[in-house]
Amino acid sequence: MRPRRAAVVLLTGAIAAAACGASAEPPIDLRSRQIGPHTWYVEGEAGAATRENRGFNANAGFVVTADGVVVFDALGTPALGAALLAEIRRRTQAPIRRVILSHYHADHAYGLAPLRVAGAQIWAHRGAKIYLDSEPARTRLAQRRETLAPWIPADFELIEPDHWVDGDFDFTLGGVRFDIRHVGPAHSPEDLSMLVLPDGVLFTGDLVFAGRIPFLGDADSAGWLAALDKLADPRARVLVPGHGTASTDAQAALRLTRDYLLDLRAQMRQAVADLLPFDEAYARARWDAWSGLAAFAEGHRANAYAVYLEMERESLAPPQPPG
Ligand SMILES: [Zn+2]
Repeated sequence: MRPRRAAVVLLTGAIAAAACGASAEPPIDLRSRQIGPHTWYVEGEAGAATRENRGFNANAGFVVTADGVVVFDALGTPALGAALLAEIRRRTQAPIRRVILSHYHADHAYGLAPLRVAGAQIWAHRGAKIYLDSEPARTRLAQRRETLAPWIPADFELIEPDHWVDGDFDFTLGGVRFDIRHVGPAHSPEDLSMLVLPDGVLFTGDLVFAGRIPFLGDADSAGWLAALDKLADPRARVLVPGHGTASTDAQAALRLTRDYLLDLRAQMRQAVADLLPFDEAYARARWDAWSGLAAFAEGHRANAYAVYLEMERESLAPPQPPG
């Protein structure tokens, strides 16, 4: 069991019911861990979002400054967003100024509403605009309604940001500096990371997965590898991945995701070069380095197929000039 230092927050049944539309669900038990003088994070359970873990499979964080709170990501249901808010309120009564959203995937964004009601402005990268009104977004919502009932209310709607971000930017609040970087398109077109200074805490969103198979979806694996290089900021002392435990060795934390992407690309590139159909390529490939990780059964084959298609596209692309 991982050490947990911070207090337990029990969201009362009444609040949970108001937040999620359920009436008989047990309270959500959400704990945060301090990882810097101003910075805390909550860690979701390993693996996929399920009814058993109430959709709590991703991380979020918050930074308490003299002039208010900045939140990074909002977790995967309105009830979890409310539980995150309750945990922040245990630390401070300061106003919640902003949520920096790493990307619009369900497990990071479905908890936005309670934070906005509390006064936060939602900031997200413009790359999410197409996704928000897309068939994949509607399909994901229908899937979550089914698999996470009753935690996704019938009238749930994914909310748009108050402010669209166009690229890298920095801001300072209460003496704390926030370096926001657009590191997509990688895991998603809109990926944002946040480096908190002087704490040296880097929130990577889903650019980094720890202790589990990354989720690729329709990711751009070449862009993702480049983004991991952009994330390797020497000022980052603690790295908070989108999923998994925070690490005080940022380079090691980047390694699992980088090695996974490199291996998938190498094996699927070879399969495409050998003109192997995907099923045969998948059966022949060696996956022992990854098969013991959480979410392998749920996600690995789909990841391999996505990269296989990407390698096909790359094989058809005109050659790049050297350098
Ligand atoms: Zn994601």
